[in-house]
Amino acid sequence: MAITRDDVLKALSTVTVDRGDTTLPDSGRLSQVVIDPGNRVMFSIRIDPSEAERFEPVRREAEGRVLALSGVSSVLASLTSERAPNPPAPGAAPRPPAGAPGAPPRQGNALPGVRHIVAVASGKGGVGKSTTACNLALGLSAQGLKVGLLDADIYGPSVPKLLGLSGKPRVIEGKTLEPLQAYGLKAMSIGLLIEPESAMIWRGPMVQSAITQMLRDVAWGELDVLIVDMPPGTGDAQLTMAQATPLSGAVIVSTPQDLALIDARRGVTMFRKVSVPILGVIENMATFICPNCGAASAIFGHGGARHEAERLEVPFLGEIPLTMAIRETSDAGRPVVATDPDGPQAKIYREIAQKLWANLSGAPAGRAAPKIVIE
Ligand code: ADP
Repeated sequence: MAITRDDVLKALSTVTVDRGDTTLPDSGRLSQVVIDPGNRVMFSIRIDPSEAERFEPVRREAEGRVLALSGVSSVLASLTSERAPNPPAPGAAPRPPAGAPGAPPRQGNALPGVRHIVAVASGKGGVGKSTTACNLALGLSAQGLKVGLLDADIYGPSVPKLLGLSGKPRVIEGKTLEPLQAYGLKAMSIGLLIEPESAMIWRGPMVQSAITQMLRDVAWGELDVLIVDMPPGTGDAQLTMAQATPLSGAVIVSTPQDLALIDARRGVTMFRKVSVPILGVIENMATFICPNCGAASAIFGHGGARHEAERLEVPFLGEIPLTMAIRETSDAGRPVVATDPDGPQAKIYREIAQKLWANLSGAPAGRAAPKIVIE
């Protein structure tokens, strides 16, 4: 039976807030309610950051009431805090890192048990961001680190395909999702939780709600690094996600072409806006390695990302060639770092992962989330 928005609002009208003075739908705190074709219900509750503790029971109650409706398959409810947008003017000096003198005050807690959360981002789609995120996670794992991979690419989740994962994650005690395991990584993907087409209608609060839930309601356990595969681009959804996630830093993946580099620059600017340190830039598809003769040719130009990283004064982490082995293994769910660990590609990813870890070890652990701004 299809569930309607009215059904959800009716269920939510049994939840009272503000000392019983009003119901959740009448309180003006409820976001738009979204129901996807799989009867998954998503909404968020607007609060002031100081009210977070008081509203957690309300969030749980609201989630429970909606989940009790017949036909609802799952509920994604979260607390969101909106602020008037106040980014620095373009070209303004980046804000100091959180915790440094003059930095915005820290808010909330980072993820317990997770030492570092690192975003892998790109200014545009198709540059190999997900492939890089996945192999980078495996490269970190090859160093003996405990690593998780969170696919937050709401517009095209590809981690299930890259790691050969399918099926729904198991729910533990009715409230926590168990991450899937692949090649020694703990993995969770938005693609395992929602119908792909439903994400297209998401706005700031929904995006934030999804990422918050995937961080908080997944049993990540103890991790040295959680790699977050971000949605490509630098729009509102990406900015919201960068703000909603307590990131230690971000890695930008770019191809060497000028256009991709312009987009990569926007990516660097976006993270700087929200005081997230840039841990480095990676040039993907730097050279084409001919599968027949092994010769390398720079079909997209070469070295552009290294040059751009220098210009932007951010670390350059390395170059990954365009090879059949990388394309075939990632498209077959058998990532090259795990399935050909002694091969030349795995070596490149491992070296980049080592540099990343070195840069990360110098970064503050578990930086608290910066202020949330919903456009
Ligand atoms: P994005 O996440 O940026 O959209 P993907 O990681 O999904 O990009 O990669 C897009 C396509 O490019 C995939 O088919 C993938 O296998 C391929 N690809 C990515 N990096 C490489 C590489 N270094 N060599 C060959 N193919 C690659």
